[in-house]
Amino acid sequence: MTSIAANLQAVRERIGAACLAAGRSKDSVHLLAVSKTWPAASLREAAATGQLAFGENYVQEAIDKIAALADPALEWHFIGPLQSNKTRPVAENFAWVHSVDRLKVAERLSAQRPSRLPPLKLCLQVNVSGEASKSGCAPAEAPGLAAAIALLPGVTLKGLMAIPEPTDDVAVQRSRFALLRETMDAINAVRAGGLDTLSMGMSDDLEAAIMEGATIVRIGTAIFGQREYEK
Ligand SMILES: *Cc1c(COP(=O)(O)O)cnc(C)c1O
Repeated sequence: MTSIAANLQAVRERIGAACLAAGRSKDSVHLLAVSKTWPAASLREAAATGQLAFGENYVQEAIDKIAALADPALEWHFIGPLQSNKTRPVAENFAWVHSVDRLKVAERLSAQRPSRLPPLKLCLQVNVSGEASKSGCAPAEAPGLAAAIALLPGVTLKGLMAIPEPTDDVAVQRSRFALLRETMDAINAVRAGGLDTLSMGMSDDLEAAIMEGATIVRIGTAIFGQREYEK
């Protein structure tokens, strides 16, 4: 077994144990393999174990890998900061975007989504750490943005995403993730059951995220190893 295959198995076991501890079915949490900075060969190794969903942060790097792998079974999720002038290749090549934090980006993704493809699935990124983090809309803005995005034809709003500030304090981790869940509940209370996705939890805090209701965990380091650089 390769180290990527062994790491994936260990991550799947962590997810299973966290689901058990949370009293949840292990099928209720999807694993997104975050492959930024890693070459196509690493993704191929992961795909050989049945891992088909990959998260990428940088548009050009991702497009190159999508072309190199050329595998229609793979599902591509864009999770990095997205400038409004870079939306077109994302609208054309991805199944999901987790990092929408303003209406303009959602409008462009909707307009640029090719009609031969199903609507692009979106998560609204919410800043659950206040001053400690800059990306994402404020929790109080999320219901209004969600209502506006829901009207766009080329996209489907699935849920919310957060990247809390790193901390070893599990109580703080859980409070950030709980805020994302409560924000989704508040949106669903007025929009009658529209959202079902909480994209939250990374290599160091996936257990806390699953305790608070994560449905997608985004895991990089625990699968592929320590990244040698961050762009
Ligand atoms: C890099 C990244 C991850 C993965 O983080 P790890 O700590 O390596 O698991 C998850 N989500 C986002 C948005 C990222 O940029």
